[in-house]
Amino acid sequence: MLIIPEALIAQLVSAEDAFGAVEACLASAARGEAGNFPVIREALGEGRQYGFKSGIDRAGGQMGVKAGGYFPGNAARGMINHQSSIFLFDPDSGRPLAMVGGNLLTALRTAAAAAISIDRLARPDARVLGIVGAGHQAGYQLRAAARVRPWDRVIAWNLHPEMLSRLEDVATDVGLPFEAVGLDAMRQADAIITITSSPAASLMAAHVAPGTHLACMGTDTKGKQEVEPALLAQARLFTDEVAQSISIGEAQHAIAAGLVQPEDITPLGALLAGQAEGRQSQSEITLFDGTGVALQDLAVAGVALARARARSLGISVEV
Ligand code: NAD
Repeated sequence: MLIIPEALIAQLVSAEDAFGAVEACLASAARGEAGNFPVIREALGEGRQYGFKSGIDRAGGQMGVKAGGYFPGNAARGMINHQSSIFLFDPDSGRPLAMVGGNLLTALRTAAAAAISIDRLARPDARVLGIVGAGHQAGYQLRAAARVRPWDRVIAWNLHPEMLSRLEDVATDVGLPFEAVGLDAMRQADAIITITSSPAASLMAAHVAPGTHLACMGTDTKGKQEVEPALLAQARLFTDEVAQSISIGEAQHAIAAGLVQPEDITPLGALLAGQAEGRQSQSEITLFDGTGVALQDLAVAGVALARARARSLGISVEV
């Protein structure tokens, strides 16, 4: 098996690779050729979460598991809060193929999923990008979103405003004007990405204008919440996986309140596979509940493995 350390990932997998890998695996799932297994995600106390996301993509030839979680004390120790590793296995024999550093891959595949949803669901004339959140993942989200629309400007809100300057640096780097705003000003946005670890809604229905597309990416665990459930009740809903959306995603709260039924939520893969319709009007709100699925992790790790083999990189070990 090949060990592909985190330090090698940046030279093996690009943002463009992540777009292709995520689109392909979500579409495979919609066609019934790939599936995620039930997620295990446990609260460890003090905001720490740890768990396992696993699945098999028969079309892509990937089987495996991502082990990892969120450890909010890490930032103070000079590490990112998200930590993960991805293990790939041969789907025919079960033999381990690779252990792949999962931190950058998670950032890239999460940003790609939100950007793909913007590409497919935001209005064609969307020009103002809103971001709620300014942690490690926010910059990746901004960079990926910049690839799919010609934004005029970026507006952003974060509970901890001192973190916004790092996001402004990313906006400057991709050539976009940046403004820190209050949540009320999010009504100016045509698309909004939420990417926080919040345990309660920050973005309310009153903060969102008709015709907006939302990519809600922060809620990936029971108990997290970024937006008001009433917003989901008003919106046309999409997700990476319905089972995760209603249990650990943003929809968990609207489902619990009886505002939304699982049948109201369309897999983004169905849209990508040509099995479902997207936005129906200029004025409707669309919302992608991006919970983060194993298939995304396996797909980008598969790219890393193929590239590492082709370039004779990584550490080969017998197990
Ligand atoms: P981070 O720790 O670097 O940043 C956390 C962000 O949340 C910061 O903007 C912080 O100001 C904000 N925040 C913290 N407490 C808050 C509160 N009470 N109310 C509002 N905002 C609050 O984390 P990150 O790596 O940027 O990840 C952000 C979130 O995205 C995490 O919840 C993480 O688990 C999740 N995530 C989801 C996926 C997915 O596939 N859906 C993938 C990666 C990360």
